[in-house]
Amino acid sequence: MKIYISTDMEGIAGIVLPEQLRRGTPEYAEARLLLVREANAAVEGALAAGADEIIVFDGHGTGFNFPPEEMHPAARWVHGAHYWPRFPFLEGSAGMILLGYHAMAGTLGAVRDHTMSSASWQELRINGRPSGEIALDAAIAGELGVPVIMVSGDDKACAEASAFLGDVVTAEVKQGIARHAALTLAPTRARELVRERAEEAVRRAAGRHPYRVDRPVTLELTYTGTDSADVRFYDGHTVERASGRTIVVRGEDMIAAVRRLLGR
Ligand SMILES: [Zn+2]
Repeated sequence: MKIYISTDMEGIAGIVLPEQLRRGTPEYAEARLLLVREANAAVEGALAAGADEIIVFDGHGTGFNFPPEEMHPAARWVHGAHYWPRFPFLEGSAGMILLGYHAMAGTLGAVRDHTMSSASWQELRINGRPSGEIALDAAIAGELGVPVIMVSGDDKACAEASAFLGDVVTAEVKQGIARHAALTLAPTRARELVRERAEEAVRRAAGRHPYRVDRPVTLELTYTGTDSADVRFYDGHTVERASGRTIVVRGEDMIAAVRRLLGR
């Protein structure tokens, strides 16, 4: 049984400040250890439930956040500069874990709420429904027939996961107070929780359905400023400009639409 773990940093226990998410700071050096150790806990949980192939994907920022010497030897790790596909080697997985994820842009009391870009994305709508990275990534995995089986992050990320994915297993490692404040579990306790929940999620993986959005897919993106929309190319049917800050992207399926949205 193959399990895929996609990681982000904002929803990891102990991470709350922008400095922790930016390479080159002492806070970042510590935060990447928090990340990889929580990822290792998810690997341990998946192993305990019978996974015999585990791939961990580094999804934050530059895609190079795991200190290599800390990587759990039972997994293989995808890291390095981002490209397409969004999730290399996802095909054939029995389930996907979204680890360290965060709530969509604009969520109240959520640590580092954003959707893809804090600077330039204000709101993403998938077939009209405001959506964040949890739904976006679940829908991409859904096109490949892979169900999201677990989501970890703060309380807002977990609530968002439940709203989109039903009775998905969640691991709430902190409660958001504000964008840069949280009530957090100690990282050691958070790892215990993640290990337990990952084991439970992998045991239940066979009963989960992929998250699929209706086809054809319409994505609407409202940027924070008109300049981001100004620099795009519009062909008038698959990519259109709806207003100063909003573009509309269409695709025959989710993957085609996301590729157009991201220009990949
Ligand atoms: Zn991130």
